[in-house]
Amino acid sequence: MLTPDEVKTVSLFSMLELKDLVQLARTSEDIHLCAGEFAVHEGGERALFAVLSGRIEVIKLFDGIERRLGWRLPGTIFGEVPIALGTPFPGAYRAAEPSRIMRIDTRHYYALAALCPEVAARVGALARERLGGLQGIAAQPSKPRVIIVGQRWDTSCSDLRRFLARNQIVFDWLTPDSPELASRWPGSPPRNEDCPVLLADGTVTQPTARELARALGLQTTARLDDYDTVIVGGGPAGLAAAVYGASEGLRTLVVEREAPGGQAGTSARIENYLGFPGGVSGDELASRALQQARRLGAEILVTRSVERIDPTTRELFLDGAETIRARTVILATGVSWRRLAVEGFDRLIGKGVYYGAARSEAETTNGLDIYLIGAGNSAGQAALHFANYARTVTLVVRGSSLEKTMSQYLIEQLRGKSNIAVKLQSEVQAIHGETSLTAIDIREQASNSLRRYDCGGLFVFIGADADTNWLPGAIARNSRGYVLTGSDVLKNGSWSHSRDPYLLESSVPGIFACGDVRLSPIKRVASAVGEGSMAIAFVHQYLQRDAASSTEPRVSPQESRS
Ligand SMILES: Cc1cc2nc3c(=O)[nH]c(=O)nc-3n(C[C@H](O)[C@H](O)[C@H](O)COP(=O)(O)OP(=O)(O)OC[C@H]3O[C@@H](n4cnc5c(N)ncnc54)[C@H](O)[C@@H]3O)c2cc1C
Repeated sequence: MLTPDEVKTVSLFSMLELKDLVQLARTSEDIHLCAGEFAVHEGGERALFAVLSGRIEVIKLFDGIERRLGWRLPGTIFGEVPIALGTPFPGAYRAAEPSRIMRIDTRHYYALAALCPEVAARVGALARERLGGLQGIAAQPSKPRVIIVGQRWDTSCSDLRRFLARNQIVFDWLTPDSPELASRWPGSPPRNEDCPVLLADGTVTQPTARELARALGLQTTARLDDYDTVIVGGGPAGLAAAVYGASEGLRTLVVEREAPGGQAGTSARIENYLGFPGGVSGDELASRALQQARRLGAEILVTRSVERIDPTTRELFLDGAETIRARTVILATGVSWRRLAVEGFDRLIGKGVYYGAARSEAETTNGLDIYLIGAGNSAGQAALHFANYARTVTLVVRGSSLEKTMSQYLIEQLRGKSNIAVKLQSEVQAIHGETSLTAIDIREQASNSLRRYDCGGLFVFIGADADTNWLPGAIARNSRGYVLTGSDVLKNGSWSHSRDPYLLESSVPGIFACGDVRLSPIKRVASAVGEGSMAIAFVHQYLQRDAASSTEPRVSPQESRS
C-alpha cells in the first residue's frame, strides 16, 4: 500500500499538493519485483512507472540479442515516451535487484495531468529528451550477426540464407567474386570449394542448418527427458499451444524442423489477423509469438524433426537418435507444398525454382521477370510482395478466373499493380536452364499454343497436403494425410475407448492435432492459433481425467533432469 510520502520521493511528483499525492497513492499499483522480474515488456501497454526502491534496467532486443540501454533508479520515472506518443513500450524494463515500483495507468495519469499541467509538461520534456537517444539507437545500422559467402545458385547456400532469414537473424550475403569481400572478410578470402562459409562468432565452413543453429546459440536439444506436452511443429498452431501450455504451468517443448513461424512466417502481409488493423507480416507475428512462448518458459528446438511416435509409450523419436517422453503430444505440423509434375523440375529447385516463397527470396528477383504458378491467396500475396522487386510478375493460372480461389481484396490489389499480369487458362509445361533456371514454356489452353518465356524465377503455389506418412497407423488420417479428430474419429470407427474423444483429440488418447494438419475445411492463421490454445485445454482435461487413472509411465522432474 503506497503512502503520499512515498509518492513524494519521486521527483516528478515532489511539487504535488497533499490531496493529489493522496489520490495518486490510492489509484496507483504498488508493485514489488524480484530480481529478473519484468515491470513491462518491449511492446507492452503504455502506462507511467516510477521507481521507489531497487534498480531497474532498460533493455531492448536487437536481432534477438538483448542489449542494456540504461538504468532507472529510485525517484525516477519510465514510460514517458509511450505516454507522450501513444505508442507501446519501445524497450523492456526489468528489475536488476529486488525493487519496488508504482504504476499509474493512462486514465489516472491524464486525470493528474489535467489537475497539474506542470506534470504533463515535465513528462513531455523528458519524452523529447529520451526520443533523441532512441533515434540515435535506431539510426545505428544493425550489425549483421552473420556474413555468408556463397554462390547464388548453390542450393546449400540458399538453404542457409533461408534458414537465417526464417530465424530472423540479420546476415549479409556476399558472392566469392564480390569486391566487398576483401574488406569484409578477416584474413584471406574463403576458397570457392569451401563455400558456403559463414562468419558468426567464428568461421564455419559448409555447416548444416543444425550446426549453424548451434553456432548461433539456438536451442537444438531438449533439456529434460520428459514433458507434460510435446508440440510437433512451430507454426502459429504450435506456438499458440506453447504460449498457453507454458503459461499454464505445463512442462512444454516445441520441436520445429526448420524455423518457428511455419507457413505464416513466409507470408508478406497477413491482413486478417485480429488486433493488427494495418496487417502484420508473417515473420513479425512469428517473432512476437516466439518471444512470448520463450518468455513464458516453453522450450523451442529448431532444426529438429520428429521422425516417429510410439503411440503406446508416447515416446517421440527425433532425428539424430534423441528420444523424448511426453505425457501428451500435440501435432501441429501444418502442410507442405504439393509438388508439380513437370519433367526436370526437381533438378532446378533452389536454382531459380521454388516451392512457396520466403520473403527473403524477393530481393533475389530484383529487376527480373518472374512467374508464379497458383491462384490462391498465398500466390496473390506473394505476387504483390515480389512486384516491389521484380520487373514483372506473371501469375500462371490453370482456371478461367481468380474469383473462385482468391479473396476479392487481393484481386483488387493485383489489378492496381502495373507490373503484375495474370495468364488465365495457362500451364507451365517445361523449364529450361543448365545451372539455373533461364526460361519456361507456357501452354495457353484457348489457343493451344506453346510459347517460351525468359524467366528469372518460378515460384509454385499449387496447394498443400499434410505430410504425415511418418505418423503411426494408430493415428487415423484421411487419404490426403489430414489427421482425424473428435467426431471424425468416431465416425471413422477408429475410437475404442469408453469416453468420447475431445474435440481436437486424434484416434490415440492424449495425442491431439490442431491447425492445418487437422482435417477441417479452415486453413487460417487465426484458426490455427485458436486451435493451438484450445488443444492445451484438452491436454489439461486429459491429464486430470485419463492420465491419473492410466498406467502411463510417470517420471519425476528430478529424475527427468538427469
Ligand atoms: C504465403 C502464405 C500466405 C498466407 N496468408 C495468410 C493470411 O493472410 N491469412 C491467414 O489467415 N492465413 C494465411 N495463410 C495460411 C496460414 O499461414 C496457415 O493456415 C497457418 O500457418 C497454419 O498454421 P499451422 O501452425 O497449423 O501450420 P504451419 O504454419 O504449416 O506450421 C507447421 C510447422 O510444423 C513444422 N513441421 C512439420 N513437420 C514436422 C516434424 N515432423 N517435426 C518438426 N516440425 C515439423 C514445419 O516446419 C512448420 O514450421 C498463408 C499461407 C501461406 C503459405
